[in-house]
Amino acid sequence: MARKWYDDDELDILINRNHEMVLDAVEAYLEEKPDFCRCRDCRLDLAAITLNRAPGRYYVSEYHMKYYGEGDEGPDDRRVRRIVNEAAAVVTRRPHHD
Ligand SMILES: [Zn+2]
Repeated sequence: MARKWYDDDELDILINRNHEMVLDAVEAYLEEKPDFCRCRDCRLDLAAITLNRAPGRYYVSEYHMKYYGEGDEGPDDRRVRRIVNEAAAVVTRRPHHD
């Protein structure tokens, strides 16, 4: 097998800043929308669809975001909230639960 280009512990410092932002946005959505289904399938589908649609904002954490995307917190936050709403519509239209 070919040697990997990275050591496993190196991946730990490769962070997607929008990953946590998406999880927070899903939580906020669920708090705001009590009618949205709370089952495991729907909650995880909501997160998965949102994560797929949200832009990645990866950075190498030991650089402390100095060179990557610092200062654009606001636009991404609004964008992610909009994406959660769109993802929720998809899940509601075609839920995987029984
Ligand atoms: Zn459900």
